[in-house]
Amino acid sequence: MLHDGQAAWVVDPGDAKPVLQALAAHGLELLGILVTHHHPDHTGGVAELRNATGAAVFGPYRETMPEPLRRVAQDDTVAVLGLPFRVIEVPGHTLGHIAYYCAAMDGAPLLFCGDTLFSGGCGRLFEGTPAQMLASLETLAALPGDTRVCCTHEYTLGNLKFAIAVESDNAVLADYQSHCQDLRAKGLPTLPSTIAQERAINPFLRSTQPTVAASAQRFSAEQTAKEGVFAALRSWKNQF
Ligand SMILES: [Zn+2]
Ligand SMILES: [Zn+2]
Repeated sequence: MLHDGQAAWVVDPGDAKPVLQALAAHGLELLGILVTHHHPDHTGGVAELRNATGAAVFGPYRETMPEPLRRVAQDDTVAVLGLPFRVIEVPGHTLGHIAYYCAAMDGAPLLFCGDTLFSGGCGRLFEGTPAQMLASLETLAALPGDTRVCCTHEYTLGNLKFAIAVESDNAVLADYQSHCQDLRAKGLPTLPSTIAQERAINPFLRSTQPTVAASAQRFSAEQTAKEGVFAALRSWKNQF
């Protein structure tokens, strides 16, 4: 949820109830809903929230969505609390998946990337190809390093177990795992992450690193091109 003390927007409301509770607790009016892709854990609360508040709903151009909504595509802009959020198409997890990017909010960029980029990992390839997902992740990885990465799921600790299996010699990754374990032990979220952090620790953004490629080759011998390394990592993670 983003809010300015009076008006609020939410991203990917899988469930209406916690949103309605937060609106009531803080005295906020819900103006809009941003949706990244069609999966029910991202859209389940949309109809109830729209009916309860009249909020405007924005979602991907190419996917089945709870109607009515305004459909947005690459480089479209949504004004959220007076700030422009640019749409970036990131196919892979689903074919129409989009992300929303604001170049400056409270001093740093902000990214809502749904189930495409997670801290330490990435979404499963339900609809797209490895090459599509890799291209989408490369687009996100090219955003400014201080971009706050607001993904939709707190999967960080599970992802980092896998990341360490891939890159056991990455000291930044080992430090980040300790930091995230401390946060979770206190009941705090590990999110948002940042793009700079993900470039340093996320194996799915690091398929050109020799250590990552060597690990992927142990899982699947022929993989040498970065798309092949990425595909091998994703298959390995599915079984991890
Ligand atoms: Zn999903
Ligand atoms: Zn999800």
